[in-house]
Parts: sequence; C-alpha cells; structure tokens
Amino acid sequence: MTFDRLVCAQCAGPVSEGRCPTCRATRARLEQESGWSSPISPAAIVAALIALLAVVLLVEHATA
Ligand SMILES: [Zn+2]
Repeated sequence: MTFDRLVCAQCAGPVSEGRCPTCRATRARLEQESGWSSPISPAAIVAALIALLAVVLLVEHATA
C-alpha cells in the first residue's frame, strides 16, 4: 500500500502499524480512499503506454 512508509505525527510510528488512535484513523481513512492516493494508477500508466505504442506504430505504418 502507498501509506506503508507514512509516519504518524502523533506517535512518530508507521501509520500502517496502527500504534495510536491517530494511526488507526488515518489508516482507515486511506483504506477507504480506494487504497491508492496517487492520481495516476499503474493501470492508467500501462494503458497510456499501449496507446502511445499504437500511435507510434500507426505513424510508422503511414510514413513507410
Ligand atoms: Zn500514531
């Protein structure tokens, strides 16, 4: 998960370990937010690369 290395401001421990109520609340909130905090998901990157590859192949095909 993306919050594995997130450090708690309350107890200075890893949020993923849930050492204090703040940790557990933060962890629960992050888990509810679709589990991925980054706006770009790996699936989106793969889809973009495939689309780019398709465009490159089409252009090469058109010019050759
Ligand atoms: Zn904490």
